[in-house]
Amino acid sequence: MVTTHNLGFPRIGRNRELKFALEKYWKGALSEQALLEIAAALRAQHWQAQAALDWIPVGDFSLYDHVLDTSFMLGNIPSRVSTLPGDEIDSYFRVARGRSVSDNAACSCVNAGEMTKWFDTNYHYIVPEFDKNTRFSLHAGHLLEQIQQAKQLNYQIKPVILGPVTYLWLGKSKDGSDKLALLDDLLSVYAQLLHELKNADIQWVQIDEPVLVMELTQEWKHALRQAYYQLQAASPNLLLTTYFGQLQDNLQLACELPVSGLHLDTTTAYDEVAKVIDWLPSHKILSLGVVNGRNIWKTDLTKTLDWLEPIHARLQDRLWLAPSCSLLHVPVDLDSEQKLDVEIRSWLAFAVQKLGEIELLANALDHGRDSVAAALWENSAAVISRKQSKRVHQAAVKGRVLEIDDAMGARQSPYHQRTIVQRKKFQLPPFPTTTIGSFPQTQEIRQTRRDFREGRLSESAYHQAMRKEIEICVHEQEALGLDVLVHGEPERNDMVEYFGEQLAGYVFTQLGWVQSYGSRCVKPPIIYGDVLHSQAITTEWIQYAQSLTSKPMKGMLTGPVTMLNWSFVRDDQLRADTCMQLALAIRDEVLALEKAGISIIQIDEAALREGLPLRKSQWSDYLDWAIRAFRVTANGVSDATQIHTHMCYSEFNDIMAAIARMDADVITIETSRSDMELLDAFDQFHYPNEIGPGVYDIHSPNIPSIDSIIELMEKAAQRIPAERLWVNPDCGLKTRNWDEVKPALRNMIAASRHLSTHLSAARTG
Ligand code: GLN
Ligand code: ZN
Repeated sequence: MVTTHNLGFPRIGRNRELKFALEKYWKGALSEQALLEIAAALRAQHWQAQAALDWIPVGDFSLYDHVLDTSFMLGNIPSRVSTLPGDEIDSYFRVARGRSVSDNAACSCVNAGEMTKWFDTNYHYIVPEFDKNTRFSLHAGHLLEQIQQAKQLNYQIKPVILGPVTYLWLGKSKDGSDKLALLDDLLSVYAQLLHELKNADIQWVQIDEPVLVMELTQEWKHALRQAYYQLQAASPNLLLTTYFGQLQDNLQLACELPVSGLHLDTTTAYDEVAKVIDWLPSHKILSLGVVNGRNIWKTDLTKTLDWLEPIHARLQDRLWLAPSCSLLHVPVDLDSEQKLDVEIRSWLAFAVQKLGEIELLANALDHGRDSVAAALWENSAAVISRKQSKRVHQAAVKGRVLEIDDAMGARQSPYHQRTIVQRKKFQLPPFPTTTIGSFPQTQEIRQTRRDFREGRLSESAYHQAMRKEIEICVHEQEALGLDVLVHGEPERNDMVEYFGEQLAGYVFTQLGWVQSYGSRCVKPPIIYGDVLHSQAITTEWIQYAQSLTSKPMKGMLTGPVTMLNWSFVRDDQLRADTCMQLALAIRDEVLALEKAGISIIQIDEAALREGLPLRKSQWSDYLDWAIRAFRVTANGVSDATQIHTHMCYSEFNDIMAAIARMDADVITIETSRSDMELLDAFDQFHYPNEIGPGVYDIHSPNIPSIDSIIELMEKAAQRIPAERLWVNPDCGLKTRNWDEVKPALRNMIAASRHLSTHLSAARTG
C-alpha cells in the first residue's frame, strides 16, 4: 500500500482566524488562554481536514513562525528579552515583533528579531541569533502538548521538526563566530528531543533539511553527515525532507544519510527521481512530493500516474506520496471561493484539494485507475479545458512576445546624452527631492475604495473622491516644496493587484490568503492566461494630478518582474515568457503616459531581488530575462522622458551590474536602515546613472533629523558624484500618517537645500 502524508498545513485558518485572534490578543482584548484555545481549535480543524492521510503532521502549527518556535524549543532566546519580566509568551512575542501584550502600558519594547525570507518563498521567518557563547537546552513542552492533543483525537501522527543543520544555516552569527562550532551542543539537544519523541511512542519524525537544495561547502556537507550519524541511535524513524529545488551535488549525500526515508520535491527535482531511486538503499522509504505545494493549479493526475505506476511497481510499500513542500504557501480551501469564475475555478486546487489529489493518486496506485475513474475523468476534463481555453491562449499576445527584439529594450541615446536633454527640460535644482509614490492611506481613503468596490458608491462619486485626495496630496507636496511630485496612489489597494485587475489574464480570489509573516497575510493574484493591456490604466489620474501643478508629475507603475514575483503564476509556460507578456502590457502603459504628456515615469521593481534562484549558478539566467523584461517595459520612450525605478532592499551589491543594465535614468533604493552600507558596492562598481539612496526609513514612526539626512547624503556623495544624487525616502509612505510624513519631508527638503549650497560651494570653492 502507498502511504500518504503531508509536510505541513496552512496555520492561519480558512477565515484568517489566527490573524484576528493574534491581533486582538496583542491589543489586550483577548486573554492568553482564549488565544491558546483558538490555536488548539484551529489545529483540531486542520487535522480534521487531513484525516484521510496515513500520517498527519503535528508541530507545523505556530502562533507566529516555526523557526522562532524552534529557537524557543532549543532554548535559544536572545538575552535582550530573556531578562525582561513576563512569561514565555511575552518573550516569544518580544522576539517576534518587538513587544508583548504586557508592554502595551509601559512600553519596554526591544528590538524584534530580524526577519527574512524562507528560501525563495514569500514567507518570512525570524532569524535565529547565535554567538560563540550560545548554548542550547531542550524545552519541548509545546510540541509534546500538541502531540498529546492529536493523540487524544486519535490521529496517527508524524511530528515535524526543523533539522539541526538547516536551523544553523538559517541563523545569523552576531559576533562573526563560526555557526558550525555550535553543532555539537545543538546535536545533543536534538538527540534528547528525538529520545523524548520516541518515549512518546512516536514512530516517524519528519525532519526538514531544505538546506540540501543549496550550494553547500564541504563543512556544511560534513555537518549533515555528522548530525545524522549522531542522531540515528536514539531516534524514531526519521523522514528527511528536502524541497524547493534539486539536490544536484548533494544527491548522493541525501541518499546515504542514515535515516529511514527521504522526501523529494518532484515539482523541482523531477529529473533526479530516477537517480535517487538507484542510489537509495533498499531499506529506506522514498516520499515523492508530486503535488505542487506552492502553486494553486490542479495536478494533471493521469500524467502523474503514467509516471508513478512504474515507480510504484518497483518500490511497492516503500513509496510514500505527499505535496512537494508544506502547504503553508497556498490558500486553505477552494470551497471558500464563491465568487470565482466557474471555469477558472475548475482549474484550481488549494491546500484541501491538494490533499484530495494525494488520496486519489494513492487509491489509483493501490486499487487501479478504475477504482477512481470518475474522479480521474473529472480531473482530465479540467486539465484539458485549461489547456485548450481561448481565455488562456491569445495568439496575438504570443505573437507579440516573439517579435520582441533588442531595439525594443534600448533607449534612443545613452544616459550621458539623455541627461543633457532632461536637465534642460526639467530644470531641477541640485539634490532634487521626490517621494516613492504613495502618500498616507487614511481610513477615509480605504473606506471610499471599499464603498466603491462593494457598490455603495457610484463611479462618478468615487472618481470625485479620489480626485479630492489627489488635490490634497499635490497641494501638500507643493507647500512642502518637493521638486518632483506624485499623485499619491489613493486609488491603489496594492501595487500588484491594482494593475492585475485591469489586465486580461489575471484573476482574484476572495479568501486566497497566504501567510507572509506572523499575522500578516497576502492574497496573491493568479495569472491564468496570456496577459493583455487593453486600455490605459493610470493616465487619467496622473494627468489630473499634473493639471494641478507646474512641477513635473511622476507617473507610477509596477514593473513586470514584481508583477510576476508577487502573483501565483502559470505552470504551463516559462516564468520568463509570462514576464515578457507583462513587460509588453506595462510598456503599453508607459507609452500611454508619455503620450498623455507625463515626462517622468517610475516603474517599481520592489520584488526583483526576491526572484533570484536559490543557487547562485542560476542567477545570471534569471537576471538576463528579468532585466530584459524591464528594458522592454521602460525603454520605448524618447530621450526627454525620464525613467525612474525603485527597489526596496539594500543588499544589491551582488546584482549591481545587472541593475545598471536596466538603464533607468534614476534609481531610488532603500539604504537608511543599513546606514548607507549599501553604498560600499559603489566602490567596486561605478553606477553610471542617477541614484536616490533612501534617507528616511519609512518603516519607523521616527522623524529623521536634518543633520542625520545630511550625514547620510554626505556619505553618499563620497561614492557618487553629487550631480547624480537625488534625495528621497526609502519606500512609499502609505503606511505612515500625515503627522509623521510632513515633518519628515520638511527635514528632507531642508537637508537637500543645505547640501546644494554647501556641497556646490565646496566644489566651486
Ligand atoms: N510606489 C509604491 C509606493 O510608494 C512602491 C511600493 C514598494 O516599493 N513596495 O507605495
Ligand atoms: Zn519600496
